[in-house]
Amino acid sequence: MNALAQDARSEGRLILGPELLPAVLAHPLHPTPLLVSSGATSSRCAGDGLWTLDLRRRYRELRYQVESSQVTIGTGLTMAELLEGLRSDRRALPIGLSGLPGSGFLLTGGMGPLSRSQGLAMDHIQRIEGVWGNGEPFNVHRDHVIGDERAASYWRGLLGAAPFLAVVTGLELRTHPIEPLAVLQERIAVELLPNWIRLAEQWPSSASLQWSWGDYVEIYAVQGLPDGCTSDLLPALAGDAAEICADQLSLPAFGRLTTDRQPLPSHCEVLGRLGQRWGEEAESVVDHLRELMMRRPHPSCRISAQQLGGATGTVESASTSFIHRNAEWKPWITAAWTPEDRAGRQHSLDWMERVSEALMALNPGVHLAQLHDHLPFHDQELKDAFGSWLPSLKQLKAELDPDQRLCRL
Ligand SMILES: Cc1cc2nc3c(=O)[nH]c(=O)nc-3n(C[C@H](O)[C@H](O)[C@H](O)COP(=O)(O)OP(=O)(O)OC[C@H]3O[C@@H](n4cnc5c(N)ncnc54)[C@H](O)[C@@H]3O)c2cc1C
Repeated sequence: MNALAQDARSEGRLILGPELLPAVLAHPLHPTPLLVSSGATSSRCAGDGLWTLDLRRRYRELRYQVESSQVTIGTGLTMAELLEGLRSDRRALPIGLSGLPGSGFLLTGGMGPLSRSQGLAMDHIQRIEGVWGNGEPFNVHRDHVIGDERAASYWRGLLGAAPFLAVVTGLELRTHPIEPLAVLQERIAVELLPNWIRLAEQWPSSASLQWSWGDYVEIYAVQGLPDGCTSDLLPALAGDAAEICADQLSLPAFGRLTTDRQPLPSHCEVLGRLGQRWGEEAESVVDHLRELMMRRPHPSCRISAQQLGGATGTVESASTSFIHRNAEWKPWITAAWTPEDRAGRQHSLDWMERVSEALMALNPGVHLAQLHDHLPFHDQELKDAFGSWLPSLKQLKAELDPDQRLCRL
């Protein structure tokens, strides 16, 4: 569980099946917002004085249908449990850099090393089932919203902004055949980072670059190898063969080369931005980030990034709440501090804002994978995440969660 959420003075966890969930959402028995926890990896799955609806115990279904190549799941599963459940059928879908996250990853537009070739995990959703914030149950299929403006706007709201509108309990998802992956993971000198960024921007969409900057800079390049073909890209870059992994769950841990120290106990908040190619501006941005990294307030503060583009840009931007379909990079900032160190927390959050400003020109969008309704920049993040779609999203909120039982929008 996220360490900050674990240490929160929460009112407790609610474990509710589908028979009780609508009634609890419909009645003002609890302080709001009611927090929701699936994988429990974000800081906002529990909070001081608030109840958490824990999906992990009750929503654990996994049923793969061979004829349609689709999987029906409960939203209490982690991404590792989902892929493990599909392994025997040699199927998968693009998860992120870890199997730990739960359905928050699927619903908020989570991305991973295969997103450039296969799209966002969210783009694989065919059907969504759950309960709106007002207590009304729903079950929406992608095909059934075509030509129905109201249903289409519900669908759009659920894909990328579900945590503001509903508790999602079940999903039906498209899958792909499992493919082996070539991965190149190396520590590099920071001076080489702009070069890697520019190089990756020329890669075919079968390959993606991720990097993370802590005490050292790690690059983590992944290329899918469909039909057993060999990597035409990574060995040439590495000078020798990249490691071949059987599937996404076999990939080495991202970020392990960024430090030699044992991890210290820490709390953290994470902010993800979205934006265009860095191209010729990569040097100046990295120089600016280097100054900020030299002044990071805690050793666990990090700046990292993952590459988008390719298939993530082929979906119409107005069809989901993930509007930044032309984004090529998601840089994200981890602001860490020692638990109970209030001044350290503030320094770290201030540092995160300065890094965010340094990234803003090239990365004006926000990826709302972590809710920050407890932090002062929540409203700005909403604007940067949803842009001109935000007013319509607020109308949906007024209709579907009028008493703001769920996170404030
Ligand atoms: C180790 C690690 C690796 C990660 N790697 C990536 C990555 O590669 N790419 C990427 O994009 N992100 C990545 N993330 C971020 C992560 O995907 C998001 O923070 C995601 O929202 C976490 O979802 P969760 O269910 O695990 O967390 P939770 O804390 O349980 O939920 C996160 C938020 O989603 C809402 N939510 C969750 N489930 C539901 C539901 N069923 N209905 C309504 N609302 C719900 C909750 O209200 C909560 O605010 C990573 C996070 C970690 C900790």
